[in-house]
Amino acid sequence: QAGDTKHWSSDSEESDSSGHECLYQVILLGDHGVGKSSLARIFAGIQEKDALNCIENMYERTLTVDEEETTLIVMDTWEAEKQEEDEKWVQDYCMQVGKAYVIVYSITDRSSFESASELRIQLRRIRQAENIPIILVGNKSDLVRCREVAVEEGRACAVVFDCKFIETSASLNHNVQELFEGIVRQIRLRRDSKET
Ligand code: GDP
Ligand code: MG
Repeated sequence: QAGDTKHWSSDSEESDSSGHECLYQVILLGDHGVGKSSLARIFAGIQEKDALNCIENMYERTLTVDEEETTLIVMDTWEAEKQEEDEKWVQDYCMQVGKAYVIVYSITDRSSFESASELRIQLRRIRQAENIPIILVGNKSDLVRCREVAVEEGRACAVVFDCKFIETSASLNHNVQELFEGIVRQIRLRRDSKET
């Protein structure tokens, strides 16, 4: 009923006429160089040089998934431009505000895979009580000859950490659409299970 909307959400979110939150912050986490910015730019549908103008590394786009629209704000803010104190503050903030998380590693860089596990643990500690969607992403799947992390390892890690898993290639634009659609579906699953 209109006028009787419950305000569960913080002011960073909006609700549609049915009371559904329809604007979701998705945070990209992961080591430097794994492809976070490349994935964000594909999401936003922009070319590399345009990205110079993008405000605060946040990208908003409305996706139609299963005939329903959902707006994601993808935040590529994990690596602050100005270092040290700023970065710490931004990273704490990122850990608090996400409605969903994409933890990216490169399949060509084992240490980035280990960092991904640490990020998952950190996230679980900070957002303990919440059942937030998390997707583990093994990017650079096109670099087959340089692979250091097997698909099975990624998949097994996701099982242990109770999150979704996908391998992508930002360079070939392979599975990137699937990644963001997957996030939308994960968000909806949780939303719908809250309602019943
Ligand atoms: P970030 O530091 O996590 O934001 O990573 P970037 O998006 O800046 O990417 C780091 C480097 O890896 C850049 O040179 C990209 O062109 C390259 N890169 C990103 N994704 C892929 C991919 O899927 N395949 C290949 N071969 N290179 C990629
Ligand atoms: Mg970047």
